[in-house]
Amino acid sequence: MSPETCAVCGGTVPFDSTVHLLVHTHDEAGALDYYVCESCYDEDLAPLVA
Ligand SMILES: [Zn+2]
Repeated sequence: MSPETCAVCGGTVPFDSTVHLLVHTHDEAGALDYYVCESCYDEDLAPLVA
């Protein structure tokens, strides 16, 4: 497994410590997928989906 770059903080994180996000858009971009580290997910994203 190669490390991924966190889309929020830009840090390099081990693959098994990332959260994979798949965001569907309504334009021709279709879907965006990216990875964030667990701490960014907890701080920035978990409140949005709670
Ligand atoms: Zn991060």
